[in-house]
Amino acid sequence: MSLLKNQDDLKVLVETLNFKEKVERSLQLIDEAYRQYADGLVVANSLGKDSVVVWDLAKKVNPKIQGFIVTTRFKPKETIDFMNQEVARYPELKVYKSDIPIPDRLYETDPDRCCDILKVEPVKRAVYRMGVTCWVTGLRCTEGRTRTDYKEVEERDRGLVKLNPILIWKEREVWQYLALYGVKVNPLYAEGYRSLGCAPCTKITNEDNERSGRWIGTSKCGGECGIHTRPLKTNLDGDGI
Ligand code: SF4
Repeated sequence: MSLLKNQDDLKVLVETLNFKEKVERSLQLIDEAYRQYADGLVVANSLGKDSVVVWDLAKKVNPKIQGFIVTTRFKPKETIDFMNQEVARYPELKVYKSDIPIPDRLYETDPDRCCDILKVEPVKRAVYRMGVTCWVTGLRCTEGRTRTDYKEVEERDRGLVKLNPILIWKEREVWQYLALYGVKVNPLYAEGYRSLGCAPCTKITNEDNERSGRWIGTSKCGGECGIHTRPLKTNLDGDGI
C-alpha cells in the first residue's frame, strides 16, 4: 500500500521506529509524493532546523524539487544571512515577503494580524504563484502543544495536500541527521535557541516545549503563526478557489 495512504498510529511510530527507519520513511513519503505531484510538490523552507532536514531529504529524492522561503522585515540578521547563503546555493528556493505598511509594534498589540500579513499572505502567494498542489513542511508532532494532531498527509485545503514527512521525528533525531549529514544550520542555534522566528517574538528558553520561546507574553505564546492553521488555497484577492 502507498505510504501516502497510511493510517499508522503516529504516537507508536514516534517511540518504536529507530533513526534509520524514520529517515527511510521520510524519504519514501517524499519520493511517493513527488511521483504523484511532480513539480506541484514544493518544500516550504522556514530555514529552521526541521526545514533544512526536509530540504536535504527532498534534494536526495530529486535535486530538481523546488522550495519557497517566507521572510519578514523582523527576521534576525543571522537568519537573513543564512537565507542568502541558502538561496545562493539553491536557486530553486524562491523568496516571498510582504512589504505592506503595518502599525508600529503590531507584533505586540495584535500578533495574529501581524503574522497574517507578514507570513500567511506570502505563503498564499507562493502557493498560488508556484502552482503548488503538495507542500512539504518540517512539522513535528513532538514540538509542542499545538503540533500533536497533525497527520503525515493532510488535505486541509481542497486541492492542496500537505506532506509532513518528518512528523514522527524527535528533536534529538533532527540534530542527529544534521550532524551525520553535515547539513548547515542557522548560527542562532549555537546561541541556545530551539525554535526560530522573527526577532521580537523569539526568545531563548529552557522549557520542555520546544516552541515555548515563541510569542512570550502574548496570547500566541508557544503557538503558531497561522500557516498551518489558516486556509492557504486562495487567489490573490483572498477568495477561496
Ligand atoms: S512572528 Fe512576530 S514579528 Fe513575525 S510576523 Fe508574527 S507577530 Fe509579526
